[in-house]
Amino acid sequence: EEKKSLSFVEQMVKDDLAEGKNGGRMQTRFPPEPNGYLHIGHAKAIAIDFGLAKKYGGECNLRFDDTNPVKEDTEFIENIEQDIKWLGYDWAHVYYASDYFQELWDFAVWLIKQDRAYVDEQSAEVIAQQKGTTTSPGTNSPYRDRPVEESLKLFEFMNSGKCEPGKMVLRAKIDMAHPNMLFRDPLIYRVLNIPHVKTGDKWNAYPMYDFTHGQCDFLEGVTHSWCTLEFVEHRPLYDLFVGWMKEWLGTLENPQKLGYLENMGDKFADFEGPRQTEFNKLNLNYILLSKRNLRTLVSEGLVNGWDDPRMPTICGFRRRGYSPEGIKNFMEKIGYTKIDALNDMALFESALRDDLNTRALRVSAVLDPVKVVITNYPEGQQEMLTAINNPENEADGTHEVEFSREIWIERDDFMEVAEKKFMRLAPGKEVRLKNAYIIKCDEEHPCDKDADGKVTTIYCTYDPETRSGLPGANRKIKGKTLHWVSCHNAVKAEVRLYERLWKMENPRDELKRLEEEEGIKGADALRQMMNPDNLHILTDCYIEPFAAKLPALSYLQFQRIGYFNVDPDSTPEKPVFNKTVGLKDTWKK
Ligand code: ATP
Ligand code: MG
Ligand code: MG
Repeated sequence: EEKKSLSFVEQMVKDDLAEGKNGGRMQTRFPPEPNGYLHIGHAKAIAIDFGLAKKYGGECNLRFDDTNPVKEDTEFIENIEQDIKWLGYDWAHVYYASDYFQELWDFAVWLIKQDRAYVDEQSAEVIAQQKGTTTSPGTNSPYRDRPVEESLKLFEFMNSGKCEPGKMVLRAKIDMAHPNMLFRDPLIYRVLNIPHVKTGDKWNAYPMYDFTHGQCDFLEGVTHSWCTLEFVEHRPLYDLFVGWMKEWLGTLENPQKLGYLENMGDKFADFEGPRQTEFNKLNLNYILLSKRNLRTLVSEGLVNGWDDPRMPTICGFRRRGYSPEGIKNFMEKIGYTKIDALNDMALFESALRDDLNTRALRVSAVLDPVKVVITNYPEGQQEMLTAINNPENEADGTHEVEFSREIWIERDDFMEVAEKKFMRLAPGKEVRLKNAYIIKCDEEHPCDKDADGKVTTIYCTYDPETRSGLPGANRKIKGKTLHWVSCHNAVKAEVRLYERLWKMENPRDELKRLEEEEGIKGADALRQMMNPDNLHILTDCYIEPFAAKLPALSYLQFQRIGYFNVDPDSTPEKPVFNKTVGLKDTWKK
């Protein structure tokens, strides 16, 4: 078998380790902003941040990017942690970007003293106007050459709580004519005057993303900092600030005391600093990501919470019945590249099916039931038959299913007037009942119907010689094998079927179009894009008792129907199941 080549990210790790870079140490981080739940896009980042650290003996830390002093949301923090663990990963430490506010402040003060940063008192609009364009240089701020002492004082004032937000910002002094627009004296601190969950009202001036991320990477000893492609043009600035920080460290008596640098012990001497590498974001057809949109779906009640099985969140997919292994298989299949792509939902589902096939317990459930009476089977008698739990894994064993005179089958497995190609139950025709007998539908009196002509009962006889396991079971028939459950012990169940959430294949583009071209925004746009027919709740299904007793989140295959999962709403009296995915690809027409 041909060996699959490594992704460029993994190859880079291998090469770096082989060259002994950073003293042979490898460290990553996963940096979510605690302002929502993780979605399937995050799983792609998690799979390398945690996955490669695990594979190459490195360390991955969870770093909450809490530079925005938004209101407390321990709910988000706890759920992010839970989702990462569910995916099968663990972190060495949990850090917060706010852990480094003091270091970032001290670093900024040093930059001011070095005349590499200044306080600008112009408005955001004026600063924006002075930026210039990609083809023309910008204009220097009149405050650019103010005395260092003045900037130092004003920077203190920015943090005093007395400075009005927007009145002043701290800017790095780089080059207002630089071809990379981000180098035209970028803002590095702004005033917010909002207390922070972790640091209280200690800070009123907060660092900007570009001045934070690389610095946090540095202060933790991160060697490989992976992010998505939109940060490509930020990388030179990332490198510049990391370089400046190294310089600053060189001036300190005990630089290893900063941040968490001490954790790397004597490898500190070999630490070359973090390196940013970008990979392509996960984009999936039929799916809308981005926390902003997902938050709207939840807050507007367009779905039932973050873990609604229609949500592309990790917790939504978990509840839907996606497995961590299936998700990881998919990430491996699509790989990591330098080109943005739109991945196919059908490929995701096929990766899932491959995994669910190995772990799902095969059970019988009838979603649209109609009763069959087996007229030659003794009344009041039941017998127990054996069903294999999973033909893919013998170790999963077997369970018993009950057979009796009355059973439920699917309504569409019977036709009173059958077409020629109909291989299921019809007058005079034989079918096999899975794990049980061959039955034959009466020719004389095949069924009863109600006043509307709807079939209420089907009449059949069974062939006692064809019981599964007996030699007679090998008798060849034209009809198919049907699934069924015994009326005597079947449990009534609710089954939730999910259709596409969006009407279009590329909801991201449509949202953009609605917002930009039609001025329809936020919840209104989402409402308009939604497939109104995205959920079917079936409340009159019947399931065998074995399946009704399984704990929430069990992986099942309803034979002949699809993969299903036990919903946490289930009670022993009323089990509830979510359809995960069908047995066949239904995305392509
Ligand atoms: P969103 O834009 O959906 O809100 P985000 O990037 O703002 O996502 P963060 O919490 O900042 O969310 O992301 C944490 C990490 O997950 C980042 O390293 C980010 O690059 C990565 N990430 C987010 N979305 C995707 C995606 N679609 N594919 C791959 N990685 C992603
Ligand atoms: Mg973000
Ligand atoms: Mg974002």
